[in-house]
Amino acid sequence: MRHLPPAGTPVTLKDLLFWVRGMMASGREEERLRREIGRLFAVEHVFLVSTGRAAMAVVLEALREGSGRRDQVILPSYTCFSVPSSVVKAGLQVRFADMDPATLDYDYEQLERLDVSKVLAIVSANLYGIPNDLERLESFAADRQIRLVDDAAQAMGATAGSRHCGTFGDVGIFSLDKGKVITSMNGGIIVTRDDALAGHLGSICGRLPRQPVTQCVTEVVKAFGYAWFIHPSRYWLPARLPFLRLGETRYTTDYRIQRYCQPMAGLALRTLAALSVYNKARIDNGVYYRQALAETPGLHHVTLSPRGGPIYLRFPLLVEPSSKRRELLAVLRERGLGASGSYPTSLCDIDELGKYLADTGKQWPGGAEIARRIVTLPTHPMVGAADRSTVVKTVREILQ
Ligand SMILES: *Cc1c(COP(=O)(O)O)cnc(C)c1O
Repeated sequence: MRHLPPAGTPVTLKDLLFWVRGMMASGREEERLRREIGRLFAVEHVFLVSTGRAAMAVVLEALREGSGRRDQVILPSYTCFSVPSSVVKAGLQVRFADMDPATLDYDYEQLERLDVSKVLAIVSANLYGIPNDLERLESFAADRQIRLVDDAAQAMGATAGSRHCGTFGDVGIFSLDKGKVITSMNGGIIVTRDDALAGHLGSICGRLPRQPVTQCVTEVVKAFGYAWFIHPSRYWLPARLPFLRLGETRYTTDYRIQRYCQPMAGLALRTLAALSVYNKARIDNGVYYRQALAETPGLHHVTLSPRGGPIYLRFPLLVEPSSKRRELLAVLRERGLGASGSYPTSLCDIDELGKYLADTGKQWPGGAEIARRIVTLPTHPMVGAADRSTVVKTVREILQ
């Protein structure tokens, strides 16, 4: 029974063997991983921590040191729920700026009118591996002397102009979680070219607690389970186990900020070595969906920024009306075709954030509209030619 995961990185038996052999032999993989990231993305400073959210929290904490009284962080109204949780963890306030549903990027006209006198930093989104207009965002931040954190958790390998996502502004992050571009089950990467900021980051990272051995052992075991069950011939099983809560998004600040689980570095290195191959497969699938669904009524494609090089971690569509979207998601899911409705609401609708918001009572309709309309199709390297044509046929069947 074929069942596609909505996102993922293939991990083969060969990958596992390579990783375990490296773990036994040298134990220097973490250093090699840092060097390799530095080389690939042309950045001087690379730090590894337990998760992407931990990376974001550490970055914001480092930016806060020496920032005076600026304590607000501008976030896009629709992005991963963990981003505001990192702001809260860093003791800062959340300030929303609305997004344009057509681009899944900031609405720059609104953004440029914001009063930024108390703003410490702004965070990009690069959702689904589609780069924001990072050159514009970088000038926005530089002109106002606020910091730009380039969140490339979903966009490792994507580009804007001639530069990589994650390397715009002052500092960037990548994630090594299971549904991201490459994986070691968990992990967060911080990259920067700013020496002074790197000093702060280094001292914060140096103080982070190590992960307990039991937690690292669990990660290793999890990687074997992941490698087995991510395959479309076996994914139906985890997809049916409700306690795994796959694809569920909940807001929480209940996680620890720790060092990276060192034994996992070899797996990250191994998947990193295949980054461009895996991304090529994702791009091929994305381009296919874009062409095959170009004329389909009732759906909108995301307008790409002119200098953007997306990697399509997933392929987003905006569908209306919501009854059609619900039907489309239900049918694609029932047939095991790896669709998802992405994050359930805009960040503005997370009740727990109430007391950390810099401005309440405002409306951010763009983020809410994205949440109401979005559907993502799977693009990962395990999506074959037959799969993607079935996905397209199904989308057409429902929407036409
Ligand atoms: C996944 C994600 C994060 C956080 O990464 P984790 O490793 O899952 O903690 C941050 N930002 C965005 C945009 C993400 O998609």
